[in-house]
Amino acid sequence: MNTTPIRPVAAADIESWDFEADVVIAGYGIAGVSAAIEAADAGAEVLVLERTGGWGGAAALAGGFVYLGGGTAVQKSCGFTDSVEEMKNFLRAALGPGVDEAKLTDYCEGSVAHFDWLVECGVPFKHTFWGEPGWKPPADDGLQYTGGENSAPFNTLAVPAPRGHVPQMDNKKSGEKGGGYMLMKPLSEKAESLGVRAEYDMRVQTLVTDADGRVVGLVAKQYGKEVTVRARRGVVLATGSFAYNDAMIEAYVPRLIGRPAASIEEHDGASIRMAQALGADLAHMDASEVAFFCDPQLFVRGILVNGRGQRYVPEDTYPGRVGQLTLLQNDNQAFLVIDEAAYEEGMAAPTATEQLRRTPTWVCETVEELEAEMGLPEGALTATVAMYNRHAANGADPLLGKKSEWVKPIGSPVAAIDLRGMTGGFTLGGLKTSVDSEVLHVTGEPIPGLFAAGRCTSGLSAWGYCSGISLGDGSFFGRRAGKAAAAEG
Ligand SMILES: Cc1cc2nc3c(=O)[nH]c(=O)nc-3n(C[C@H](O)[C@H](O)[C@H](O)COP(=O)(O)OP(=O)(O)OC[C@H]3O[C@@H](n4cnc5c(N)ncnc54)[C@H](O)[C@@H]3O)c2cc1C
Repeated sequence: MNTTPIRPVAAADIESWDFEADVVIAGYGIAGVSAAIEAADAGAEVLVLERTGGWGGAAALAGGFVYLGGGTAVQKSCGFTDSVEEMKNFLRAALGPGVDEAKLTDYCEGSVAHFDWLVECGVPFKHTFWGEPGWKPPADDGLQYTGGENSAPFNTLAVPAPRGHVPQMDNKKSGEKGGGYMLMKPLSEKAESLGVRAEYDMRVQTLVTDADGRVVGLVAKQYGKEVTVRARRGVVLATGSFAYNDAMIEAYVPRLIGRPAASIEEHDGASIRMAQALGADLAHMDASEVAFFCDPQLFVRGILVNGRGQRYVPEDTYPGRVGQLTLLQNDNQAFLVIDEAAYEEGMAAPTATEQLRRTPTWVCETVEELEAEMGLPEGALTATVAMYNRHAANGADPLLGKKSEWVKPIGSPVAAIDLRGMTGGFTLGGLKTSVDSEVLHVTGEPIPGLFAAGRCTSGLSAWGYCSGISLGDGSFFGRRAGKAAAAEG
């Protein structure tokens, strides 16, 4: 049972305020810092309350992709043509079903300006493109396909363009200091230069409302002591996802039980719970990003089959889509079937994720022997490989549409790599918000004085995901939250 007090407190019951500002923001990650900059830019006095000892959140640990398009300077320098319409068409298909059309339109239309804003805030992007299969560029290239734009089925639905923009950084360390650090550092410096104050080791727990139901402050714990914080204009919730709230995971995304990834322990759903206690509506609580723990340079060169020995995904797509389809639609069962020549080529190819390269579990001379070793019913894998090879001889994959450059008949010796259970992820659902990041009540009306952004909200992703959407919608709608909160009162 959650023992943290989340019921709203009446302002009339608060004797004195320990802290006060026009706009008070809970959480100093990507959504929080973006809100802080815009609120301060609009002339508001801003205070950020952060549970840990410093700014950053999951954002500072992130690979750093920000999903942007429609013709950014980086896209243009790298020779790619893009438009708002193509970006919308792709995202509607890739992030759905159920994408919030108003948010999608706003995001795509504002994408180039948002890129320019990040650059103005000091975020560096190198104007070079990384075109190899992979989770991220091994060096400091600034642009990559991060959603399967150029693979089936999306390459038939929208003109492909790469939109994963990653801040330039030397000496990246996966999960420690990635491109996300070079996003957060300049943004937090910008916030500081605008006079934004921060209180650390401050765990926000409860919202404070006045007699009219307006949110006018927060109760938090700092060094074990309860403190009250008054927000003269508005409160912005930006404390991240619920990936580490076991009860919520069980209730909403049971496939993710025991497998949180690309998130931090502080993502315990606090903002969602606090706002729910005021009647806030939720959206897409079952949506989740799912990472697949294998190097794309390997699996693009073979075939991925499920527990029945059948293919289920074009292997040249975005690895996060492979993860989603594996965990959510194939019982977390995956095997990579690959011949020796393709395996050796994949192992020699450049990658940013050496740690995800795996050694074969079974190696045989024939597919018949392999399926027996794997414990698959006789004929299951043999039929899959025979069908694949028949069309691969012509460089085609009529079943799933893998691009011809990656389609080669599987020869001998042949191996299978056991990838069952190799997934993990974070949650994408949360508070239902307007395009101005107002938190919406179950009646559909905004809750006065309350705004939210980042992974405590339902943003652009309704079911699907692309790398960069989280830092993208977190920063974009974080800015909206800061602006809207500053405009109150
Ligand atoms: C290794 C890794 C790689 C990733 N790569 C990418 C990528 O390339 N692109 C992408 O888009 N996304 C990526 N992500 C995901 C992305 O970083 C997060 O989804 C994103 O940062 C969420 O933004 P946010 O502002 O909601 O949360 P955060 O950035 O995590 O900020 C939330 C902040 O709130 C604080 N907080 C929590 N609870 C409280 C409380 N009660 N009171 C006060 N403060 C609180 C937290 O400590 C944290 O600082 C990655 C994540 C990881 C860990």
